[in-house]
Amino acid sequence: MIAKSDVTVLVVDDEPEIRSLIADYLSDEEGYKVLEAENGRDALDNIIPNCKVDLVLSDINMPVMKGFDLLNEVRRHYPYIKRVLITAYNVEDYLELALKHDVGNIFVKTTPFNFAELSACLECLLTGNIFGAERYFDSPAQRRSVMVKRGDCVAESAARIIALLPQTTIPSKLELVLIELLTNAVFYGVRNERPDRKEGWNHDFELSDEEAVQVSVMWDAEKHAVSIVDTGGKLKKRDVLYWLNRQVSRDEQGMPVGLFDSHGRGLFIARKYIDRMIINIDRARKTELIVVNYHDKSFEGYKPLYINEL
Ligand SMILES: [Mg+2]
Repeated sequence: MIAKSDVTVLVVDDEPEIRSLIADYLSDEEGYKVLEAENGRDALDNIIPNCKVDLVLSDINMPVMKGFDLLNEVRRHYPYIKRVLITAYNVEDYLELALKHDVGNIFVKTTPFNFAELSACLECLLTGNIFGAERYFDSPAQRRSVMVKRGDCVAESAARIIALLPQTTIPSKLELVLIELLTNAVFYGVRNERPDRKEGWNHDFELSDEEAVQVSVMWDAEKHAVSIVDTGGKLKKRDVLYWLNRQVSRDEQGMPVGLFDSHGRGLFIARKYIDRMIINIDRARKTELIVVNYHDKSFEGYKPLYINEL
């Protein structure tokens, strides 16, 4: 594990107050080396060629050169540099660009600013250690685990998982979200079923311990998280971005382009009903979906995008 004092984060934002708010936190609280630039051009011409930069954290909307253009140049010329975007606007408007420029992480500026979440997001990218809900909790959190093995008990499993959580803080749609995500993990991830053959799926099976979908539930005073891991590893970052974007793109009649898609609608709707969805992918090995809900409304607003693919 590399020491944070050896890691350099370049913060690019045209608003000096926000830039120094983030830079001060990352250097003073987290111990990173931090550099600052006021737009993409400044970062690309003056800083990146002259300094060792490990991660660029860039605002999207800036004069001179915008965040996506900067990250695209970084990807072309400095592919080893990790990339995160940050915005105060609706992330759904940027899904097409995220797909085009292979950006998996778009952090959302909230009031209050969610420093702990930003820290977890950077840590995933910088360490390559992406799996586990633990990093989203800083105080000692409660934890329970459940294995899901049977194809005919997905709804019962979702109810069993919810019963483990502190009952005061459960969003009304969480059960639906868990059924959707568990179904994906069991039937697509492990069983490699096809969505167009849903009527023909066999539900009468029991997965082995190695194949079983592993669910961890964690909570503390601020939030709860449910992590769902399958070892099929079928999900791809590109596909997720493509599917999500089809749900926000409209056709000539104003309907979602992906209205009748067999894939991706469930994921899109799940993302709507919860505060955070984090997708971690080790292709052909392991997929993790982490659902996070805050107990109060402090961090409500636009949803960030967190898709980490090794
Ligand atoms: Mg800006």
